[in-house]
Amino acid sequence: MTDVASTCDPGVSRLIGWFRTDGADFPWRRTRDRYAVLVAEVQLQSTQVGRVVPYFEAWMTRWPTACDLAAASLGEVLAAWQGLGYPRRARNLHLAARRICDVGWPGAADLTDLPGVGPYTAAAIRCFADGAPVLPEDTNVARVLARRFPDGWPGTPQGLGWEVGQAFMDLGREWCTARAPRCDDGCPLRAGCPAASAGAVLERTPPRRRQSRFDGSMRQRRGVLLRELTAHGSVVADRDAAAAASLVADGLARVDGAVLVLPEHP
Ligand code: SF4
Repeated sequence: MTDVASTCDPGVSRLIGWFRTDGADFPWRRTRDRYAVLVAEVQLQSTQVGRVVPYFEAWMTRWPTACDLAAASLGEVLAAWQGLGYPRRARNLHLAARRICDVGWPGAADLTDLPGVGPYTAAAIRCFADGAPVLPEDTNVARVLARRFPDGWPGTPQGLGWEVGQAFMDLGREWCTARAPRCDDGCPLRAGCPAASAGAVLERTPPRRRQSRFDGSMRQRRGVLLRELTAHGSVVADRDAAAAASLVADGLARVDGAVLVLPEHP
């Protein structure tokens, strides 16, 4: 284990020390395999950690490598995804696995060439699989940075990219939360925190994108249709024409005469 240099920023040093003692244990933290990290990161987008754990474990048992996933049909993949939401993620993950299986991983600078991999996920693969000193900046991390390091991140100590990245995830999820930050309830970064000292934590919170209502939404209607599609293989296309068109536009289904089928169905 790399020692935290005494010259390191005291806040960064405390963060690492805290994570080594109190960091959460998740199945994706027991691997440095790029494919496993990709699966976890895609599943964690917009889905809570606790819900992802059983999906991740089942997924990795069933498809332990990119080539195993590549060999599956889209219908199997979408069925396994049921309950995680935003099924376009599953389709992109499937496409990415096929690309990786066919031609290998792109270079570190080109990870965003993979379907569904944006700058955040590319940074997460670099950090959590490769151990690169890159800080994947999602909403939680951006919030911690804005509050605790408003003058900029002092830098990740050499060899500690993975620990720093994971520590930020835990801190943003459990302590430095959007609405109920636990500044004086044992936050490991309380000492020297400018936002807490100024009593201005909520004011120094970057605006969040509001999620629209789920009940009655197109997201819900798509989910209902896709659930039936993966369960039965086809569904009458005009049952919910708008939701059907939306699934087709996302490559999650295609119209075959009067019915909607999965894209890979003959
Ligand atoms: S002291 Fe408060 S604002 Fe500062 S890092 Fe901790 S939880 Fe966030």
